Amino acid sequence: MSAIALNLETTGSREDSANPLHVDVLIVGAGISGIGAAYHLSQQCPDRSFTVLEAQETFGGTWWTHRYPGVRSDSDLFTFGYRFKPWLSAPIASAEEILKYLDDVIEENDLGAHIRYRHRITNASWSTDLRRWTLSVTREDTGEQLTFTTNFLWMCQGYYRHNHGYTPDWEGFEDFQGTVVHPQEWPEHVDYADKKVVVIGSGATAATLIPAIAADTAHVTMLQRSPTFFFVRPNVNELADMLRQLDIPDEWTHEIVRRKIAQDMDAITKMSFDTPEFLRQFLLDTIRPLLPDGFDVERHFSPTYRPWQQRIAVLPEGDLFTCIREGKVSVVTDQIEKFTERGIQLASGETLEADVIITATGFDMSVLGDIQFSVDDKPVDFAETVTYRGIMFTGIPNLAYVFGYFRASWTLRADLISDFVCRLLGHMDESGATMVTPELGGEEADMALVPWVDPENFNPGYLTRSLHLMPKQGARDPWRLQHEYSVEKEQLPRADLDDGALAFK
Ligand SMILES: Cc1cc2nc3c(=O)[nH]c(=O)nc-3n(C[C@H](O)[C@H](O)[C@H](O)COP(=O)(O)OP(=O)(O)OC[C@H]3O[C@@H](n4cnc5c(N)ncnc54)[C@H](O)[C@@H]3O)c2cc1C
Repeated sequence: MSAIALNLETTGSREDSANPLHVDVLIVGAGISGIGAAYHLSQQCPDRSFTVLEAQETFGGTWWTHRYPGVRSDSDLFTFGYRFKPWLSAPIASAEEILKYLDDVIEENDLGAHIRYRHRITNASWSTDLRRWTLSVTREDTGEQLTFTTNFLWMCQGYYRHNHGYTPDWEGFEDFQGTVVHPQEWPEHVDYADKKVVVIGSGATAATLIPAIAADTAHVTMLQRSPTFFFVRPNVNELADMLRQLDIPDEWTHEIVRRKIAQDMDAITKMSFDTPEFLRQFLLDTIRPLLPDGFDVERHFSPTYRPWQQRIAVLPEGDLFTCIREGKVSVVTDQIEKFTERGIQLASGETLEADVIITATGFDMSVLGDIQFSVDDKPVDFAETVTYRGIMFTGIPNLAYVFGYFRASWTLRADLISDFVCRLLGHMDESGATMVTPELGGEEADMALVPWVDPENFNPGYLTRSLHLMPKQGARDPWRLQHEYSVEKEQLPRADLDDGALAFK
C-alpha cells in the first residue's frame, strides 16, 4: 500500500484521506537527522517500508530555513557530515554547500521517493490494541487533512520552531520606525546599504551575519547583553589536506579526520571542566591580537560562564574581528532599556541610533515538533516522562527521538541513534515483539530526577527558557542524556536491550 501511495505522490496524484496510509517506520522531518535516519533504515533494515514527512517545501531543515547573509556551519563538516559520506571541501561550510551535500545523499540513495514535503504532522496517537501510531497530517499547500499510520515513529524534528525565531518582549518595540528583521525570517531583500545597523545578540548567528553585511552598511553595532566565547581558526584542515595530497581514498580521509577532530574536541571539553580559566585565557589570548589597540577584550569577549557551558562560536579567519579592526563594526555590552522611534535606549543611558535592527536573539524551542501526542487516548506531557538514553521516553511506545550533542556536531549523535534504532527494530523482530516501551523498574521508581540538561553543564538561553517543557533525566544510566561522543560511541552500540529498562510485548 505505501509503495503504491508513494508512487502516486511522485506523479502528483492525491491520496484519498479515507484510506489511511501505512508504513513500518515513519520519520518526522527531512533535515540532516531525518535524511540520515532514512539512509540508515534503508541500509540496515531494507525490508521495512518507510516514509519521511516534512512540513517545509523541501529538505534541509535548519539549512533551508536560515537564509540570512553568510549563513554557515560552525562545526566542521567532517563531523557534522555523515559517517558514510565523505566531506570533500573546507571544514566550515555554507548552507548552500550543506544543502548540496544532503541533495547528493538523497539522490545517491534513492531516498527522494520516500519523502513527502509540505506535510505537517499535528497529532500522533498510539493505540496499544492496534499496535500503531495514527498521525493527523495537514498538507501545507492545499490544507487537505490526511491520516497516516505507522508501527514506529522516528522523531527527527530538530529542537526549535522553524516558522519564527525568538524575540524578547522589549518595551517600545512597536515605536521603532525603521526596519526590524529576525535572521530566521530573512526576507528576499533587506535594504541595509549605507544604513546604520544594530544587531542584537552576539552568538554564532550574529557573528556570521555581521561580516557578511558590514562592508555594505554605514556601520554595524553588535549589541550584546553578555559576551560569547569565540574560537578563531583558518578554514582548513591540514590533516585532510595532507591525506588528500597522498592520494588516500576519500572514505579513509573522512574517517581519520573525524577521529582526530573527535579526539581534539574531547580534549577541549575536558579542559573546559578541569581548567576552565586556562581555556578562557587561551581563547582570549588568541583574539586579543586581532582587535584594535586598547580594545576592552575582557568586557566584550569574556563571558561570565565557563567555556563550553554555552556553545563556543567558531570564526573562520576571525572575520568578525577584521571588521572591528577596520572600524566597520563596534561592540556594545549593555542592557536594552527600551526601543525608541529612532533606535535603542540602553540601561547605561547611551542611545544607539539605527535604520535597521537585526534581532539575532535565537530560537523558540519546540518539544517534539509541536505535535499533540496521546497514548491510548491519554494526552502525553513530555515533561512528565523520563528519557531512556536521550532517545526514548517512559510510557511512550515505539517512538525514538533525535537530539544531537551541544559540544560536538549534532550528526555524530544522529548517526549513533540511527544504528541504535535499527538494532532495536531488529531485536523486536527476533523476539516477536510489536511494542517496546521504556519503563522505570521497581528500584528506579523513586530515583532522583533532574532536568533534561543540567544547567551547570550547558545553559544557553533557548534551553533554559524551555527546560520545564522537556522530559526529565534520571540520576543514572540508562536514564540519562549523554553529552560526550567519546563515551556514547562506545556505550550505545553495546547497550543491552534486555537489561529490563525496555519492556517488549
Ligand atoms: C544557523 C544554524 C547553524 C547551526 N550550525 C550547527 C553546526 O555547525 N553544528 C551543529 O552541530 N549544529 C548546528 N546547528 C544546530 C542544528 O539545528 C542541528 O545541528 C541540525 O541541523 C539539526 O538537524 P535536524 O534534522 O535534527 O533538525 P532541523 O534541521 O531542525 O530539521 C527538522 C525538520 O523537521 C521538520 N518538522 C518539525 N516538526 C514537524 C512536524 N510536526 N511535521 C513535519 N515536519 C516537521 C522541520 O520543518 C525541519 O525541516 C545550527 C543551527 C542553526 C540554526
